[in-house]
Amino acid sequence: MDRILKGIMKYRKCHREGMVKQFQQVKDHPEPKAVFFTCMDSRMIPTRFTETNVGDMFVVRNPGNVVPHSQHFVDEFTMCESAALELGCVVNDIRHVIVCGHSDCKAMNLLYALRDEEFASQTNRRMSPLRAWLCAHASSSLAKFQHLEVAGFREPILFQAETPLRKFVAYIDPEDKFAIEDKLSQINTLQQLQNIASYGFLKKRLERHDLHIHALWFDIYTGDIYYFSRANKRFVEINETTEPLLLKEIKKYYS
Ligand SMILES: [Zn+2]
Repeated sequence: MDRILKGIMKYRKCHREGMVKQFQQVKDHPEPKAVFFTCMDSRMIPTRFTETNVGDMFVVRNPGNVVPHSQHFVDEFTMCESAALELGCVVNDIRHVIVCGHSDCKAMNLLYALRDEEFASQTNRRMSPLRAWLCAHASSSLAKFQHLEVAGFREPILFQAETPLRKFVAYIDPEDKFAIEDKLSQINTLQQLQNIASYGFLKKRLERHDLHIHALWFDIYTGDIYYFSRANKRFVEINETTEPLLLKEIKKYYS
């Protein structure tokens, strides 16, 4: 708490006044650009690595940047991720949803370990909300990963995107640069696009191409950030060379 209180004192001195002005501007002219789902990992600071500011993004964080599939939405028994989608995309009319995974994700490392049946047993799940969360909502990612593990990582996998007809193909880490758990993390990131599209209240906008879903992946060892390019069928590092090409692709696919 010492660290936090010192930080608050610094904020009061250096940033409070400027931020209050920005809050006022946002209140008068709200123009949020994206709903951003990412992991709660302390190394992930999305507003810093996207250089976004007050009013730009609605950020939702949880272990493993998971968005539960709508099949788990039963009456009033709901989850914050779907409520956040409604608040962002319906109430605030945001047109872009971004899911951002990362390397060395502790939740993904645990999901990888859950391949072991004993480790994932009912008894063990009752004792661990984290295991229960991953078993309930990330098992679809694990299933895709295991399928690819059997087929060999050079094979492509198919994901569903905005609508059941808008599928896309993905090659996961074709250069074999990343650890096995990181490959799972990339699959899990893409799986969330399908989960997001499962919500009925987004269906019409997704069909009308009025709402778009993107995947980013952050390599915390190098600081590089990747965008999933549907044209290239893989995560492409965002840099000086690729940025104009990615922008072109995004405009073509999503405008
Ligand atoms: Zn993580």
